Amino acid sequence: MSQTIWKLDNTTKHYDWGSIDGITNLFGIPNPTPEPMAEIWMGTHPMGCSIAIDNKHGKVRLDKLIQDNPLQMLGNKTFQNFGSLPFLFKILSAKKALSIQVHPTIENAKVGFEKENQLGIAIDAPNRNYKDPNHKPELIYALTSFKAMRSFRSIDEIITLFDQIAIPDLIYPISQLKNNRHSELLKHFFEYLLSLPTKTSLVKQLLMKICTFNEEPYLTIKTLANDYPDDIGLFMPLLLNVIELKPGQAMFLCARTPHAYLSGTGLEIMANSDNVLRAGLTNKYIDSIELINNTDFDSIPLNQLLTKPIVNGNKIDFPIPVNDFKFEIIKSDENLHNERVDSAQILLCLDGKISLSTKSQSLTLQKGESAFISYQTKIYHYQGRGVLAKAFN
Ligand SMILES: [Zn+2]
Repeated sequence: MSQTIWKLDNTTKHYDWGSIDGITNLFGIPNPTPEPMAEIWMGTHPMGCSIAIDNKHGKVRLDKLIQDNPLQMLGNKTFQNFGSLPFLFKILSAKKALSIQVHPTIENAKVGFEKENQLGIAIDAPNRNYKDPNHKPELIYALTSFKAMRSFRSIDEIITLFDQIAIPDLIYPISQLKNNRHSELLKHFFEYLLSLPTKTSLVKQLLMKICTFNEEPYLTIKTLANDYPDDIGLFMPLLLNVIELKPGQAMFLCARTPHAYLSGTGLEIMANSDNVLRAGLTNKYIDSIELINNTDFDSIPLNQLLTKPIVNGNKIDFPIPVNDFKFEIIKSDENLHNERVDSAQILLCLDGKISLSTKSQSLTLQKGESAFISYQTKIYHYQGRGVLAKAFN
């Protein structure tokens, strides 16, 4: 029988917000460059396709392997629905904040992509919002303590925080929100903040006001100011929940949810898309109108932000409300376990040493190593003490 599981060689991304040694410390994956090691991509994205180690042909691009035999690799259902591997799996390690962003719904992405094509905006132009017609739901799973911002705080909380900083230019717009504590007014306030011509002076006033404050979320603002000293995004910790995930906790981000990853190492799994609308902590293009049209201004309490895991024997499943991907943690031991395959999978070994075997093939994954399991594998076995993260759909 031909090969159905492949060990992967993955692409590293050296974005400037990345940690130099976060991934090396956790996985022992060396970073031979002096640059940050921000992300490792596992999947078939054209900007960083994984390489499969093939017994017969040596190194083969994973996208090529799938294109040559899509039905066997992905299964009929995934091939009919998506035409390619529908998810991208990443290790991510942030030393400084990534931009505050939202991702559009699939409907808005289709409309926006078509509109920008019609307008003749080049796909790689800096003012291009929609790189593809897809949504980009994502899940972040913390491997270390992982700090992020996500979703609006309650309006009462926002008012209290802005009252504490008492910046003269913001007193009137905040009083309007006080009189009508509704998400529509929050949207107006957010719009007002992003459209002010005096952003730099406002940020200066904010940093002056909080210089003696020593609690959250002001500490987060001070940390962010080290890297983004005059960015309007410094106001966002007053508007958005600041959350610190513990290792093993996960958070799903659906379309229209404002969020930013601030620091820590984690796994990220997402649909195959590059559609990002930014709101701050960035030098990149900000399209306020498009951003606001694609943002939900509903408040979500801090205790509702995490995804509740379902423990099933030796597996921890994180339920995902979209079809593009699923995510599971598998604890392996000395016993031989069977795993049924219903879609293509990418396995990443988080700890220990685990052997995978089929009728005709076997390979061992050590901490930091990954493998692609094709649909046609149908069933495989795993054995050995360790932990696997499984991305599938
Ligand atoms: Zn995102």
